[in-house]
Amino acid sequence: MRSDLRRLRSDRLGLNLCQQALGFVDKVLINTCLTPPVLRGSDFIGKAQGDIPSHNTVAVLLTCRRPAIKSASDRLHQRGDRRMTERETMPVDVVIIGAGPAGLAAAIRIKQLNEELEVLVLEKGAEVGAHILSGATIDPRALDELLPDWRETCPLAQTPVTENHHWVLSKGGKREMPHFMMPPFMSNDGNYTGSLGNLTRWLAEQAEELGVQVFPGFPAAEVLFDESGAVMGVATQDMGVAADGSHKGEYEPGMEFHAKYTLFAEGARGNLTKQMKAKFALDADCEPQVYGLGIKELWDIPAEKHEPGRVIHTQGWPLSENDAWGGGFLYHQADGQVALGFVTALDYANPYLSPFQEFQRWKLHPAIREILEGGKRVAYGARAINEGGWQSVPKLAFPGGALIGCAAGFVNVPRIKGTHTAMKSGMLAADAIAAAVAAGREKDELSEYDSELRSSWIADELKLVRNAQPLVAKFGGDLGTMFAGIDMWMRTLKIGLPFSMGHHPDYEETGRADLYSPIKYPSPDGKITFDRLTSVSFSFTNHAEDQPCHLQLKDPELQVESEFEVFAGPSARYCPAGVYEWLVEEGEEPKFVINSQNCVHCKTCDIKDPNQNINWTTPEGGGGPNYPNM
Ligand SMILES: Cc1cc2nc3c(=O)[nH]c(=O)nc-3n(C[C@H](O)[C@H](O)[C@H](O)COP(=O)(O)OP(=O)(O)OC[C@H]3O[C@@H](n4cnc5c(N)ncnc54)[C@H](O)[C@@H]3O)c2cc1C
Ligand code: SF4
Repeated sequence: MRSDLRRLRSDRLGLNLCQQALGFVDKVLINTCLTPPVLRGSDFIGKAQGDIPSHNTVAVLLTCRRPAIKSASDRLHQRGDRRMTERETMPVDVVIIGAGPAGLAAAIRIKQLNEELEVLVLEKGAEVGAHILSGATIDPRALDELLPDWRETCPLAQTPVTENHHWVLSKGGKREMPHFMMPPFMSNDGNYTGSLGNLTRWLAEQAEELGVQVFPGFPAAEVLFDESGAVMGVATQDMGVAADGSHKGEYEPGMEFHAKYTLFAEGARGNLTKQMKAKFALDADCEPQVYGLGIKELWDIPAEKHEPGRVIHTQGWPLSENDAWGGGFLYHQADGQVALGFVTALDYANPYLSPFQEFQRWKLHPAIREILEGGKRVAYGARAINEGGWQSVPKLAFPGGALIGCAAGFVNVPRIKGTHTAMKSGMLAADAIAAAVAAGREKDELSEYDSELRSSWIADELKLVRNAQPLVAKFGGDLGTMFAGIDMWMRTLKIGLPFSMGHHPDYEETGRADLYSPIKYPSPDGKITFDRLTSVSFSFTNHAEDQPCHLQLKDPELQVESEFEVFAGPSARYCPAGVYEWLVEEGEEPKFVINSQNCVHCKTCDIKDPNQNINWTTPEGGGGPNYPNM
């Protein structure tokens, strides 16, 4: 099969992007080998140094990677009747949805345990890392277990953490939280700071060297079930469907990948994961998952201000002014860059609050502004992060499949770290799969993965911090942080109370607009702060035009009657990419406009819409942001 896979041909994604490339793009990267082009930050940033990069600046031509065809469709191809084809089918041992740290760690581990197993990783981004956004300051514990020599070649090894600061901000002021007040596990000693996107690119290379098939540009769009109801694989998105549902000239149906086991590694709020949770009632016995929205930028800063390995976290202002909570991070990484971002907990009540604007205000704090002045923003993006902790971890295994990484939710919220736990969960699932296949099993429930995880170091780590998020959510930034600190210390000293606090879903926490006043945010200065649409252009987002809207509105009337009339249209403020707009003309019903081409796949609308009336689905393959080194 591997040799079949190496048959190179223009694939659907290649064709699609080729059309865009012919007319509009300034730069085209062409790759005709099995490995897709690994775009380094400089490929994008060279272009982004100008004031505002065009949406069409970069296109990636993937002219390969169409796997072997194994169905009657071959005959139809010969008749030239391409549009009538049934889906092509490819059997593998394991299919993994998502080339993030969880999915790639699982793929590598399976191959390490049994090189004979066929392992396939599907990734919706145009290349591995294109949709990855994180801080990141990374605990290497799982990397050390998976690939002990990683420091020799992995770009993450470039920048060990050298300094660690935690600032409590007030408007215009700051106080440093002394290290002794925080339990030892909060220390960043021994951690590394760098781009998670680049780490996944490197992991994908390691996986491919072991024989894993990594297919970027292939969103998994539908879960397949066998006659017993077990998951038997996934189908990828159809290509070449027009906005009205008709088939365009380049139409090709999605492919089916059948597997003995399917791992869901979609990250926070995966859309197929959401379906699995509902179908198998995976979260029946846990607290609801809750989230934050992280908005991030990369800046080149003047050399004299740059201190590689310096890691800063902040809490307090500006969210403290709006009865909301969250915090900022600013990491001095390699090549004169800082990665900075701001996470707003999505349980905020005031529907007038804008996480994007709160991030802009945060950058204006003198302590942050001083670092950025004289620098240049080079990238922008956003992504939801799990904040539910241990009590929100659902049942992990179901017939034929399992959740790994942030699809399940293993982020240690006070540490803002989920990469090491995501990887470890992937490795534990891989152990269970290798043993199951060796025992001749398939498509059954990997309950041993669930039980192994619950007695692993992931559990030890997350249990220590399980009440930190709920305490801050309940008592607010200052008091909540103090209680959370006491709780974490007591648990560290093994005298903690044996209970976990609960959560409420974020959408339920949104308040009615008549109970709040609109918030006046400052206008962007174009130097430190920016408007939303200019910012989106720095995410290099691109979606094929004329395709069905991937943001499905279940009930348009409900959107007007409730989202607009009761809650004053919070979608126009929570979306970090300006996708949603309300157009109000006198004498006419308000119009809900969805600019889906701007979507950066952060999943906030799916989480925060007060009526759960918006359903995020996968767009055509390769669409979405093209993050360089986020
Ligand atoms: C702002 C922010 C800051 C953070 N900071 C840190 C930090 O400093 N340190 C740290 O350790 N952690 C941090 N995290 C958390 C960390 O990024 C996550 O825990 C980690 O990325 C989870 O890995 P994952 O593989 O489960 O999911 P992800 O990294 O989200 O990867 C999922 C992959 O699956 C793909 N995918 C999704 N759906 C589909 C589909 N249907 N078909 C095909 N592909 C699909 C996505 O495109 C993506 O590539 C941060 C997160 C955020 C948002
Ligand atoms: S449309 Fe939804 S998923 Fe897309 S950027 Fe906006 S909030 Fe995020």
